[in-house]
Amino acid sequence: MYAGLIIPIHEFEKMRIGDLLKPFNEKLVALKVITGYTYDNPHTYFEDGHGNFFKFLFIIHNKPKNIITFSINLYTQTGVTILNEFIFEKHSNSNWHLEIIPKDVVVNICKTIDDYNHGKIKCADCGEIVDKKDGIGGHYFASAYCKGCWKGEKGNYKDRSGWSAVEAKENYN
Ligand SMILES: [Zn+2]
Repeated sequence: MYAGLIIPIHEFEKMRIGDLLKPFNEKLVALKVITGYTYDNPHTYFEDGHGNFFKFLFIIHNKPKNIITFSINLYTQTGVTILNEFIFEKHSNSNWHLEIIPKDVVVNICKTIDDYNHGKIKCADCGEIVDKKDGIGGHYFASAYCKGCWKGEKGNYKDRSGWSAVEAKENYN
């Protein structure tokens, strides 16, 4: 049996940041009771208005100097591939929990979903938007890399045989 918490993207853009905290977590706890899930991997999804689902994770990091960093990690429906990460910050002494999700974050989530629906995906290293069939060199864990970053022609492993060499050394334990 499967169940998930689905937020239509047009509802998400009206949500307050606080809506993603306690009320959201209470629903996830209820979902665990209903389904009997024994693990904590949240089954949370956006629905794009065309019947497509995209898994997401909402994460809060407390940072020094009263700054709170929020990140939304967006995945394919199965969670196998990460599509993008969206980060925004608030002052901890502001009424951030009453504020809606920043407009630019929602716009960028919609753009990533739209790109994906049109066969495009962002390289996890250089950030280039490439064709998800022909432009991807390979995967390392949930990240997809363009051909250049995979071979080491560019990106963080430039001239060091690329992400393909990193992947080759991984035993996935
Ligand atoms: Zn790349």
